[in-house]
Amino acid sequence: MNKKKKFNTAVLSLIGSGFLLAVFGYVNAQGEPPSVIETSSHIFTEMADGVYQVTGTGEVYVMSNALMLVGANDVLLVDSHVTPNAANALLRSVRAVTDKPVRYLVNSHYHFDHAHGNQVFPNTVEIIGHSYTRAKLSGEMGNVLTESTMLSFTEGVPDLVERLRAQLSDTRDPAERTRLAAQLKAQEDHMISLREIVPTPPNITLESKMTLYQDLSEGSREIQLLHLGRAHTAGDVVVYLPQEGLVFTGDMMLPSLSYMGDSFPQEWVGTLEALKAVEFDVILPGHGAPLQGKEKISQFQAYLTDLWQKTETMKAQGLSAEQTAEQIDLSNHSQNYGQIRGPGADVRAIRRIYALLDQ
Ligand SMILES: [Zn+2]
Repeated sequence: MNKKKKFNTAVLSLIGSGFLLAVFGYVNAQGEPPSVIETSSHIFTEMADGVYQVTGTGEVYVMSNALMLVGANDVLLVDSHVTPNAANALLRSVRAVTDKPVRYLVNSHYHFDHAHGNQVFPNTVEIIGHSYTRAKLSGEMGNVLTESTMLSFTEGVPDLVERLRAQLSDTRDPAERTRLAAQLKAQEDHMISLREIVPTPPNITLESKMTLYQDLSEGSREIQLLHLGRAHTAGDVVVYLPQEGLVFTGDMMLPSLSYMGDSFPQEWVGTLEALKAVEFDVILPGHGAPLQGKEKISQFQAYLTDLWQKTETMKAQGLSAEQTAEQIDLSNHSQNYGQIRGPGADVRAIRRIYALLDQ
């Protein structure tokens, strides 16, 4: 069931995703709230003419946001979600918005939740990413499927499926049963599709910048792919639309604290400074709701600087990474990050900083 509707009537379906709050108040160049097209698995929010922020409804576990740019002749997508199953749902949903063929897929970075849908794209689609993203997904640097990042986020899925099954059989309330059954179905499909993944690298790579021009019915859309420095990974690419004042940042800049297990936290601060120098109004992140302006970037820079310094001090005092992860106090950032409740940080971030300090 696909329906194009005005933003206000889509309010109820968006509340659950937490998407609404930040988009509320956003108006497009015509001064109107963005229109929304919804399929059973995806929500396409038109941020500017032919520019869609793409989020999951929950029916299919997609795990990350995508971006879709529709031109006069073709479509460019950014990021392919977490599994072949999720990417197939994305490609089906694209057909609800446009009948133009997908010509390009851009990978914001190599992480599983943004790039493990790559394999379902037909070979007529060019996949573009940083050379580091290619090196990771081609297997040149080892098997990404057995890396700690992939494992730490996916090895708990079978247990989660079991827990959801148990919860469902213990639940009598019909509405709650419907919710649990849908969540169980999504996680079962996710679990099965995780086993089908064949890492598929970009076939076109860039080092620091590439510019594409997408034909529109009048004129063209400038699409800049920018690698501003090492940050969340060694190969982050942001997609910058100068005419629209939008930038898709992948996981380099999120409303929440980004995963840091493969990151370069100290360099990340400088890379974000380079992002600040780019002229845009709205950030479309790889997870969560759009961000207006640049204030959130400064808040994240402050967190990264503090995290690095405090970790370095605690390491010098002889604490193990696990002890530092338990004891480190970053509660001075809790007003900006609701996930900070008392002392502690993600042990994967602390281990990463220890490893970088040891190099
Ligand atoms: Zn990531």
